[in-house]
Amino acid sequence: MPGFEVFGEEEKQQIMDVLDTGVLFRYEFNEQRQGVFKVKEFEEKFARYCGVGFGQAVTSGTAALKVALMALGVGPGDEVITQGFTFVATWEAILDVGAIPVFTEIDTTLNMDPRDLEQKITDKTKCIIPVHMLGAPARIEEITEIASRHNVYVLEDTAQAAGATIGGRRLGSFGNCGTFSFDAVKTMTTGEGGMVVTDDQHLWQTMSEYHDHGHDHQVNPGGRGGEGRRFIGFNYRMMELQGAIGLAQLQKLDSMIASQQKHKTRLKEAAAAIDKVSFRHLIDEKGDSATFFTFTMQDKDHCRRIGDFLKQQGFGAINFSENSWHYYPQWEHLLEGKTPCESGYPFIGRGGKRRIIYDPKALPNSSALLERTLVYPVSVKMEPERLDALCDALKKAASV
Ligand SMILES: *Cc1c(COP(=O)(O)O)cnc(C)c1O
Repeated sequence: MPGFEVFGEEEKQQIMDVLDTGVLFRYEFNEQRQGVFKVKEFEEKFARYCGVGFGQAVTSGTAALKVALMALGVGPGDEVITQGFTFVATWEAILDVGAIPVFTEIDTTLNMDPRDLEQKITDKTKCIIPVHMLGAPARIEEITEIASRHNVYVLEDTAQAAGATIGGRRLGSFGNCGTFSFDAVKTMTTGEGGMVVTDDQHLWQTMSEYHDHGHDHQVNPGGRGGEGRRFIGFNYRMMELQGAIGLAQLQKLDSMIASQQKHKTRLKEAAAAIDKVSFRHLIDEKGDSATFFTFTMQDKDHCRRIGDFLKQQGFGAINFSENSWHYYPQWEHLLEGKTPCESGYPFIGRGGKRRIIYDPKALPNSSALLERTLVYPVSVKMEPERLDALCDALKKAASV
């Protein structure tokens, strides 16, 4: 799965280009940097790779979500709909801009259920964030159709699915914008880092300004200190070393995915022996980035037996229904409204009134699905012996 598996000479060379100039900042230092603009080059190449016009690099995938939501104009009084199976970052960013996260069920894609989405849209809904979890797409075309009917934005959280496609078109390019993470365990990594891609030049311009304290980035004789500003901002700037690593990793993304797909095919063939097993619905099997392999048993009990057996064999799988970072009923800090803020914000608003109440039992379909699903991360490099042994264990699991 992670890009750190393929670190090599390419990353070192890119980093040396930066160290040779000594310029770590993405702006200014025009003489000293000798034409080296790694972050800018990374933005342009990543956007082109995604088939869109613009890329905005930031410090993390979480920052990408926040910057995109701000640029879309989302804030207090708005609701943003996402799914109950995602990393906490998705709804942290929604809360951070002052909006209220609303959660949908997932379906057999293990991503947002469009029927449930339709029911959860209200006149406060401003944006929908489908998440392409575990490397494969949400029903993004149905979701963008629903969104345009209701006149709300779509932001694709593509943190876990860089390079994945539907019919050759990259995930992240279907909505108003798409966000990516390059943290240490993502398919391609810059250590920490993120990106927003979009075809909307005005949206990109707003993100570019907001992520850098509001600097308008217009060339002017006063230099950076003399730049104007349209509004307040914050600092989510990526540094040149990250941009350099990103350029090297991007070159390797397609080959990483190809290798993962090969490994995943083997695992799927082996697991097919399990009685009444089913597999996640893939909207386009060819476009799966194959960072994870998931298989679903007929009931919870059978899933537990298979899970226990695989663990005994030394191949423990993830059951996301027990995972405290990716699954709604396990987010006790969200459900209980825990915050360091003394006023209780964002859970408690003006006059001590509770702004948000979440019912842990609100997503029964997601629970029923995840409770009987097991997941393996798929590596780029897998020793043939270890892959064989895992496949053997899966085949043997068929008889427990
Ligand atoms: C990793 C991840 C993020 C956050 O990215 P960071 O770079 O770690 O901040 C957001 N959403 C999803 C679905 C993720 O997996």
